[in-house]
Amino acid sequence: MDQKYNQASSTVSDRAVLTPECIHCGLCLQACPTYVELGKEADSPRGRIYLMRAYERGVMPFSESFVQHISACLDCRACESACPSGVPYGELVEKAREVIEHRVQRSYLAGAFRTFTFKRIFPSRRLLRLHFNLLRLYQVIGLQKLVRLTGLLKLFPGHLAELEQLVPDIRKKKDHVELGSVFPALGKKQYRVGLLTGCVMNEIFGHINQATIRILQRNGCEVVVPAAQSCCAALHCHAGIMDTAREMARKNILAFEEAQVDAIIINAAGCGAKLKEYGSLLAEDREFCKRAQVFSQKIKDISEFLVDLPQMARPGALSVRVAYDDPCHLLHAQKIGQAPRNLLKNIPGLQLVELERPDQCCGSAGIYNITQYDLSMRILDKKVDDINNSDAEVVATGNPGCILQIAYGLRKAGIAHIRVMHPVELLEQAYQNSK
Ligand code: SF4
Ligand code: SF4
Repeated sequence: MDQKYNQASSTVSDRAVLTPECIHCGLCLQACPTYVELGKEADSPRGRIYLMRAYERGVMPFSESFVQHISACLDCRACESACPSGVPYGELVEKAREVIEHRVQRSYLAGAFRTFTFKRIFPSRRLLRLHFNLLRLYQVIGLQKLVRLTGLLKLFPGHLAELEQLVPDIRKKKDHVELGSVFPALGKKQYRVGLLTGCVMNEIFGHINQATIRILQRNGCEVVVPAAQSCCAALHCHAGIMDTAREMARKNILAFEEAQVDAIIINAAGCGAKLKEYGSLLAEDREFCKRAQVFSQKIKDISEFLVDLPQMARPGALSVRVAYDDPCHLLHAQKIGQAPRNLLKNIPGLQLVELERPDQCCGSAGIYNITQYDLSMRILDKKVDDINNSDAEVVATGNPGCILQIAYGLRKAGIAHIRVMHPVELLEQAYQNSK
């Protein structure tokens, strides 16, 4: 570990972790992927809550072990769904990570890289676009091919060579949605909605954002894409970088207030979960706490919005067998499991098959597959087995991280006959068939 611990007082209270009301029943243990994999109490929700409480009470010092067990958590929040006491585990682990962020001393290089990535690249659309354009160039000029052929990255420590394989082919993809655009409703305008494009979603899966807009237009929505919007800050909260997260949240609130929309649509589960929690993220901000609650109430996952419409435009037929995989931040954080299934079931000819464990994390979890590669892959292998054991032709899931991770898992396992798609891609195809 290239980390040391800062013993000096920090700007965040060192005892900032709230005491959870855990009754130690253990009902969450089997729902927790890291407990199932590692079999250790300290890598279970109950064990992690115990560690947070011990630290909070000053019974346990800040230590490498504390950092390890808290960092190994996926923040998948399956424990929240399993917990009968309603322990807000996601909130607790993010507070613990904020403490870690302030106390861990990283090497100069690691610290500079982290600061640049989280505080410069993600908040800036310009730098983010530049980053993905460089990635595109790396693929277009054949450098990626050369790097893979020579095995150059294997000379570097860690899992750089494996992680490079996660990068999807974006050579031909320049289909992002331009910020500042407005798309008219088709037919009679029923709603004016905003689209939060996401950063990875817009840069890698721009076609999914385009499809989302077309589906909304077809369903009587004028779609506004505010120019001043920012990244949602979910990754920052996962990493405990809360000051930057709050700045980005304020920026989004201002951007969508100005747009004056009935609802704010998001098609990325991880972003949606965070956007719905801006109220608690800004709870101590006098100017923004109420506005954050109003903002969060307007956030709708695309599936949730469409199935709640009084009359959704009827899709055409699509003959395909689809397994739906629940993104953790849609199912466990937003409690949305039925809406995407209903959306898919509404497509004539589409056969929906259930995976054995659709509610289990795929191991993507933000940047978990980068920071905890081995464990992430163990969790992914189980997901790939489940998908392979179904007779699905397509696995549908509504989060860019999950799409990338599952596609990587299928490639790694040599499974070429199953595609990974976002539910809106399937709906868009069905609408095209209705012409
Ligand atoms: S968030 Fe997920 S990985 Fe973390 S303790 Fe809960 S179930 Fe386990
Ligand atoms: S299910 Fe809830 S109350 Fe029971 S051990 Fe887990 S976190 Fe604690």
